[in-house]
Amino acid sequence: MTADDLNRVYNFCSGPAAMPRPVMQRVQRELTDYQGSGLSIMEVSHRSEFFLQVLEQAEQHLRTLLDLPEHYRILFMQGGASLQFSAVPLNLAQRHKHIGFIDTGYWSKAAQREALRYAKVTCLASGFDAFRQPISTQNLPLDYVHYTPNETIDGIEFHSIPEFDRDVLLVADMSSCILSEPIPIERFGLVYAGAQKNIGPAGLGVVIVREDLLGLAAEVTPRLLNYSTVLEHNNMANTPPTFAIYVAQLVFEWLLEQGGLLEMAHRNKCKAELLYSAIDQSAIFTNNIPQFCRSRMNVPFQLPSEAVTRQFLSLAEQRGLHHLQGHRSAGGIRASIYNAMPERGVQALVDFMREFERQHVG
Ligand SMILES: *Cc1c(COP(=O)(O)O)cnc(C)c1O
Repeated sequence: MTADDLNRVYNFCSGPAAMPRPVMQRVQRELTDYQGSGLSIMEVSHRSEFFLQVLEQAEQHLRTLLDLPEHYRILFMQGGASLQFSAVPLNLAQRHKHIGFIDTGYWSKAAQREALRYAKVTCLASGFDAFRQPISTQNLPLDYVHYTPNETIDGIEFHSIPEFDRDVLLVADMSSCILSEPIPIERFGLVYAGAQKNIGPAGLGVVIVREDLLGLAAEVTPRLLNYSTVLEHNNMANTPPTFAIYVAQLVFEWLLEQGGLLEMAHRNKCKAELLYSAIDQSAIFTNNIPQFCRSRMNVPFQLPSEAVTRQFLSLAEQRGLHHLQGHRSAGGIRASIYNAMPERGVQALVDFMREFERQHVG
């Protein structure tokens, strides 16, 4: 154990979320002097050789991580995941102006609400029913079906890609699960994610789209939301969020060094099992999400009363276990354990939960 480990706190925030420690340290080292230039990456032109290299590396690393076929394109956009709630319908829902949604919680609903401004929306399945498959498309002329593989707030995750009664173009909001395991990308027309959970600084949005879906955007689509326009300008239709892309590039590099997405999948599974088994063995902590759709990334759990919950959260803080409070709409406790959370962080939480339970019950 290094001195750094001894002093360390663990950040369980759902987003903006913990960043890999080595990435933060590298950002710190390079901040005022990027690769011997005497300049910060934050203060150089996006058209400079420096930044162009960062952008190209970011794209290359992400392609390698995802094993992305040539006919999928990568876009670095702004407005996080939420602006994609508008961008996706504007770009992909112009033929039938009709979108199918699977509604499994908070973020599915948010995406659906925004899509309603641009197209007709039909909810094909909701709640736990969405896991009963195949899902009927009701013979509707849908441009695509949208779903949220991991519901960050509700702690619900699809452990496999949903099946339908016919071929559909599938779009996924992967904000809180992207890069946590390999993605069989050819089963999707488009996936998108806000960066703040598993990629980098908040505000950046990453979109991966199949090439043949480009060029169909509505006339009124804002220039910066038009995928074709953004790609024609090599992701520089305006000044891109250069610093955020630089940090994302470092995160991609870190993931490759760790052994890529299969290795992350393995680690994430181990961390989730460790935490869920502690909850299931406990007499006071509970999680009532069915096994088949428990999230590997966001683990909400409860204590018997609000007073005990407050006590738990406050003692946890003192232990350096931060941001365990549940979402403001849900209350309770939530531990977000994305890629950057090491297993020893989850172990520290589990140790603390056992100790709290002994003192509380005993
Ligand atoms: C966090 C989150 C969002 C919102 O991301 P922003 O970057 O705030 O726009 C959308 N969808 C999911 C699944 C999320 O976890």
